[in-house]
Parts: sequence; structure tokens; C-alpha cells
Amino acid sequence: MIERTLSIIKPDGVKKKIIGDIIGRFEKGGLKVVAMRMVHMSKREAEGFYAVHKDKPFYSSLTDFMSSGPAVVMILEGDGAIAKNRQLMGATDPKKADAGTIRAAYGTSIEVNTVHGSDAPETAATETAYFFSDIERFTY
Ligand code: ADP
Ligand code: MG
Repeated sequence: MIERTLSIIKPDGVKKKIIGDIIGRFEKGGLKVVAMRMVHMSKREAEGFYAVHKDKPFYSSLTDFMSSGPAVVMILEGDGAIAKNRQLMGATDPKKADAGTIRAAYGTSIEVNTVHGSDAPETAATETAYFFSDIERFTY
């Protein structure tokens, strides 16, 4: 089934200058970029994005990190895009991520782990709408 999912290249990925490599992995993996923008989230915007984690001990530190510099937000589209993106990303903790995944290659810690990807159709819908309106999403 053709799905759409939200991807973020987090501030550590942008600083490492691996935007091109990460997008290349998505494109080679069968995912199409149908919306894309660079954004430096405010603390409040990062808190809104990660509201589901507001009771976790790492919420404050995570939202500091996510608002620490520019990030790249994208909508990826493709067959089974949600799971495919998660597969290309690897496990949350880079130490546990499979070899060949983005987080295994570039992640620094369980928090500073280079990429975000929606985890289900419902979160994909709310997360893509958090950053993009309909006219910012393209067909090609
Ligand atoms: P994922 O990004 O793999 O879906 P989660 O939704 O569980 O992972 O967590 C969201 C983000 O919060 C992670 O990508 C990571 O940046 C951070 N995070 C998750 N668990 C921890 C933790 N135990 N300590 C610090 N940061 C964490
Ligand atoms: Mg998650």
C-alpha cells in the first residue's frame, strides 16, 4: 500500500553534512521525497512535535536537542513507506541498530540518533500535518 510518512534529519545529521547521503538512502530504498523543508524548531515547536513523550525523563533534553539547530523535514512516499523508513533508520539506540542502517552509521547516542520516522499510520498523518500543508506536497 502506498503510504506517506514524516522523516526528519535531526540537527546532528545536518551538522555532520550527511543530508545528501541520507536522502540517497531513502531514494535508493524506494522512498520518494514529496515534500521537504529546512527548519530550526523553537523549543515550543519541538515540545509540540514530541508531545507524546512529555512524561518521559528525556523530554526536556530531547526538545533542547531538537531545537539546537536546523533540521530537514520531509514527507517520504512509497509502498509500505512507514515500515520501510523505520527499517532504513535502524533501532532508536544506534548501538542496537542493524549494520547498514542510518542510525548505526551516524547516530551518537540513544538521544542524538540522526533521524526521526513516524511509527504508524496515525502518527504519520498528524506528524506530516504538523509541518506541511497540502499544497506543499507534490506528485511526480
Ligand atoms: P524513535 O525515534 O525510534 O521512534 P522514540 O519514539 O521512543 O524513538 O523516542 C523519540 C526520540 O526520543 C528518539 O528518537 C530519541 O531521540 C529520544 N529518546 C528515546 N529514548 C530515549 C532515552 N532513553 N534517552 C534519551 N533520549 C531518548
Ligand atoms: Mg517514535
